[in-house]
Amino acid sequence: MVEAFAVASGKGGTGKTTSTLALGMALADRYDVTVVDADTGMANLLFHTGLDDAAVTLHDLLIEGEGTAVDDAVYDRFGMKVVPCGTSLAAFREADPERLRDVVATLAADTDVLLLDSPAALGSKSAVLPVVLADRTVIVLQPTVPSLSDGLKVQEYARSYGTETAGTLFNRVRDDDGIDRVTDRADRYFGGETLGVIPESDAARAARQAGEPLLAHAPDDPASRAFREAANRLDVRDGASEAVADRFRSAVVPDEV
Ligand code: ADP
Ligand code: MG
Repeated sequence: MVEAFAVASGKGGTGKTTSTLALGMALADRYDVTVVDADTGMANLLFHTGLDDAAVTLHDLLIEGEGTAVDDAVYDRFGMKVVPCGTSLAAFREADPERLRDVVATLAADTDVLLLDSPAALGSKSAVLPVVLADRTVIVLQPTVPSLSDGLKVQEYARSYGTETAGTLFNRVRDDDGIDRVTDRADRYFGGETLGVIPESDAARAARQAGEPLLAHAPDDPASRAFREAANRLDVRDGASEAVADRFRSAVVPDEV
């Protein structure tokens, strides 16, 4: 095990799932990568990976008494290990978010880089857990003042649990967004550098429609290239599997946010 990252943002729809899979595929050239859809209330990673019909998902692992083995929810896709989550509201209600600790600890023992596609809302127990468990966060932003301010709240919040910022990703950037001024500011306010500026891309939408990660669907698209550069900038750190697994198992889950 090397490192666990939470891919997080203040609000939904910023591109967390797109980014998780793009970073994952890019890092898979060098590392054994596992991506987990830890956004258990608004799961959509399954749609980005053609796993809409997956028989077993993270939800099954989070429901007490199901007795599902972690391995049964792991799918080899696009050079990564992918753990999708289901979209049933009933399963979400039944799921015990605290069980994510053991699932992540088990996965951590057998991979180099763990990417947790995290929920947006910082308001519930299940939403905070990935950020609490991760070593560091990658914060996905859009180039607007409200998005920066949301991202700073995520950072502040993550830091209160000892989770530092690995870097920021600006997604869906258009030519006229004055991005240099925005990234200059971001580099001052965030604990990690701007890893990438990802352009608004028709291919990203088409990839989602095709049920494939962007880097599989359109590897030469400018957005794919920008994600690969971002992955290269991410300085993955060494960590001992056992220490990480222990930390996950013993993590204190906050009752209130
Ligand atoms: P989240 O997981 O944060 O809710 P998604 O990754 O699912 O966000 O992205 C939300 C929507 O925006 C998806 O339809 C996705 O295809 C689209 N999208 C993501 N990144 C881009 C981009 N760079 N350009 C255009 N569309 C994008
Ligand atoms: Mg998502």
